Amino acid sequence: MSNKIFNSYDEAHKYSLTVPWKLTTCNVGEECWCRIILPTEKILYKNKVGDTERVDEFEYIIPDGSVDKETAEYIVELHNRSVAIYTGQKERLAILKELNRLDQELGIDIPVIKRKEID
Ligand SMILES: [Zn+2]
Repeated sequence: MSNKIFNSYDEAHKYSLTVPWKLTTCNVGEECWCRIILPTEKILYKNKVGDTERVDEFEYIIPDGSVDKETAEYIVELHNRSVAIYTGQKERLAILKELNRLDQELGIDIPVIKRKEID
């Protein structure tokens, strides 16, 4: 969850690509052929309109009337799977770094098999 207000639409857009997405229906409802794709969290950004700066919400990944239900479901599933893999990798890396730090702190010397020894 990001409580941050991004400085521009571009920054908000970039961030929207890193969070899971969800589907919703247009005004017509379930029976409509189209689906709307949204980020799963509220993303705010500073928007300058003329001389006034205001805070807007980044709303759509894909707005209504653009993509059919089946394709939208496929896109969201694919996107969410890749976000989950990326998040999982980041968590693993953080755990490895923490283990490495603890090893150093405790003076534990883990023998590392060097590439030369494998070849
Ligand atoms: Zn529709």
